[in-house]
Amino acid sequence: MDFALTEQQLLLRKAVREFAEAEIRPHVREWDAAQHFPRELVPKLADLGLMGIQFPEEYGGAGMSAVDYCICIEELARVDPAVSLSVAAHNGLCAAHIFMFGTEAQKQRYVTPLAKGEQIGAWGLTEPDAGSDAGAMRTAAVKQGSCWVLNGAKTFTTHGRVGDVCVAMAVTDRGKGRHGISAFVIDRGTPGMRPGRKEDKLGMRASDTSEVIFEDCRVEEDHLLGGEGEGFIDAMKVLDAGRIGIAALAVGLAQGAFEAARDYARERRQFGQPIATFQAIRWKLADNATRIEAARLLTYRAAAMKDGGRRMTRESAIAKLFSSEIAVRAAEDGVQIFGGYGFVKDYPAEKYFRDVKLTTIGEGTSEIQRLVIARQILSG
Ligand SMILES: Cc1cc2nc3c(=O)[nH]c(=O)nc-3n(C[C@H](O)[C@H](O)[C@H](O)COP(=O)(O)OP(=O)(O)OC[C@H]3O[C@@H](n4cnc5c(N)ncnc54)[C@H](O)[C@@H]3O)c2cc1C
Repeated sequence: MDFALTEQQLLLRKAVREFAEAEIRPHVREWDAAQHFPRELVPKLADLGLMGIQFPEEYGGAGMSAVDYCICIEELARVDPAVSLSVAAHNGLCAAHIFMFGTEAQKQRYVTPLAKGEQIGAWGLTEPDAGSDAGAMRTAAVKQGSCWVLNGAKTFTTHGRVGDVCVAMAVTDRGKGRHGISAFVIDRGTPGMRPGRKEDKLGMRASDTSEVIFEDCRVEEDHLLGGEGEGFIDAMKVLDAGRIGIAALAVGLAQGAFEAARDYARERRQFGQPIATFQAIRWKLADNATRIEAARLLTYRAAAMKDGGRRMTRESAIAKLFSSEIAVRAAEDGVQIFGGYGFVKDYPAEKYFRDVKLTTIGEGTSEIQRLVIARQILSG
């Protein structure tokens, strides 16, 4: 067992960190305040391979591993969790679904421009009345001749407004329950598909989150993604891997919140000394450093299993559950260490505290992770 990153992975971490510090850090507050999705950043992300991290070079990707993917997502989240969320949703949901289950023609047509950053991907599973219970979705697709006609609405779709390509799950045979749900890949501008309301969010405000509405949206047969009736099962497999990304996002966010608090604790003086000399502060820092290390190891373990081609439903749920919950504590302790300055927008602690909550909700809430883990350990 070797816990060390390779020389190449250390270089990758350094490159993404330098990029995030130079290109993202100066804009974090402005993008958050304006709820601005920084489309202008996408070509720069693409130059580093971050729009197609794990896809083979023949599809325009960077051909990196799942562990490399975690390093990239972590380093972006350390500086701006919202940008990291967008990169994770684009790579790990939309593009990954097409890459994993698409035909060769679909991969050429969609994965390549997505991986090159020429297009942005969205992925719609959640609906207003079907969140954790995604199988209860109402959006339906009906076969008419050689076309499928979609009607319904997706909610909380990352890149619902800015996406060029949307993968959407829809019921194609209501009698078959979860085995009657199929996936479709739909281009922006297809008549009948339009973005709905943009959400005004607590955190992750620079990541676009919107409704996607389907009104008699007609697509040809070759827009069916994966087998008919297999869309829900495929989506669960996409989420198994996607959760590793959210775990990495939580680790990076926790690291950013921790570093900001540590640096502040060294500088801030009360009672004639830096607050970092007080045991109450030191223990918070030590506990968070310990929890972050543990979360990182769980996340890399799940990623290494994916790289080894092993099933990691349990491990990715464990990594996501633990990392997101320790990240909430790291962000909360960060605010506490900043004191009153943690409560105002001039310092970074407040934004980490707002952004972090998404990690215990998106791609399956903590409660759902516990259900997945319990099911896995009790079925053995
Ligand atoms: C910023 C953001 C981005 C998102 N991006 C996407 C995206 O790109 N694509 C997409 O499809 N979705 C996306 N989502 C949706 C997200 O995955 C859902 O919000 C999440 O799965 C929870 O669903 P819900 O909000 O309907 O909550 P609900 O399912 O209504 O849950 C409410 C509460 O009940 C609990 N609960 C539900 N069922 C159970 C149970 N069986 N046992 C115990 N507790 C339970 C939940 O844990 C939660 O605490 C995004 C959400 C946000 C906020």
